[in-house]
Amino acid sequence: SLTLGIVGLPNVGKSTLFNALTRNDVLAANYPFATIEPNVGVVELPDARLKRLAEIFGSERILPATVSFVDIAGIVKGASEGEGMGNQFLANIREADAICQVVRVFDDGDVVHVDGRVDPFADIEVIETELILADMQTLEKALPRLEKDSRKNKDLVETLEAAKKAQEILDSGKTLFSQKDSFDLSSVRELHLMTAKPFLYVFNSDEGVLTDDAKKAELRAAIAPADAVFLDAKVESELLELDEEDALELLDSIGQDEPGLTSLARAGFHTLGLQTYLTAGPKEARAWTIRQGDTAPKAAGVIHTDFEKGFIKAEIVSFADLDEAGSMAAAKAAGKVRMEGKDYIMQDGDVVEFRFNV
Ligand code: GDP
Repeated sequence: SLTLGIVGLPNVGKSTLFNALTRNDVLAANYPFATIEPNVGVVELPDARLKRLAEIFGSERILPATVSFVDIAGIVKGASEGEGMGNQFLANIREADAICQVVRVFDDGDVVHVDGRVDPFADIEVIETELILADMQTLEKALPRLEKDSRKNKDLVETLEAAKKAQEILDSGKTLFSQKDSFDLSSVRELHLMTAKPFLYVFNSDEGVLTDDAKKAELRAAIAPADAVFLDAKVESELLELDEEDALELLDSIGQDEPGLTSLARAGFHTLGLQTYLTAGPKEARAWTIRQGDTAPKAAGVIHTDFEKGFIKAEIVSFADLDEAGSMAAAKAAGKVRMEGKDYIMQDGDVVEFRFNV
């Protein structure tokens, strides 16, 4: 499955956040046979629709989608110079599908900042610079080869042009992802550049920041078009010790209406370009993870590869229509249940039953 790699300078709260992610332990609870890597934290993507589906279908249990985060430990400054830890750090980032940077915004005299000051903008730049430098090295190696090969193979001319454009962007000190609205990231996919991965920023905040909309807007603007999540990692780890009511009360006291881990799950899902579709029956109401733009057979394949191979059609009703109708039979009677074929592009909130050959 797709993962977000957690990076950040020392002492910004990565471990605190990651511990909250792992102690959350949804995999262990819901998927007892899943193997859990020690450096992977899994969070549920809460979905109120599942509760309603369970009501309609009398489902015994609810299985939400999950998002996985990988803890990428290691120093950062100088990583692109390729020394020891630095190399490993970059290799781990290369394996992640998106980059989740934890940035310190909280003020706490007891927690030392590596550079002696709390400056989120400077911290973001330190990490971005290392990734940009590493990508520039990759391009410096790739360009001569592309120049040469594109003379024989005209298919490579476009990649060469894209690589040159990418080099210009990096030279100007910007990540490729930050330019995604004007630069086609897929044009350099085969070069596996790190700054072409989607970015997500977690601003590890204190109450002062969490309740300061102007400050949050300023930080959001600095990292757009990436997603931003504001949370207090220390509070998040405390929440796990509390029952739901006390947890919500604590969150409310710092101006939050949901756990930061929930916001993080949602943003992570969005950053990875994922979406869900829903299935329901007497056993379970469940959300399945697919990529945005996936077709019906592809979606069926997430349940079982045989479902994709033997796909015939999908019986689909939108959650909103089913919710309104109150039962599958009523939704059918109202003409809200459609049969879709193999070219159908799945929509968020589709409630599906697949028909297939075995
Ligand atoms: P890492 O080096 O990025 O993994 O940072 P840690 O998670 O080890 O956190 C460094 C220190 O900051 C620890 O003493 C944490 O208790 C503290 N810390 C982490 N998050 C917060 C926070 O949101 N607020 C405050 N005040 N302290 C925090």
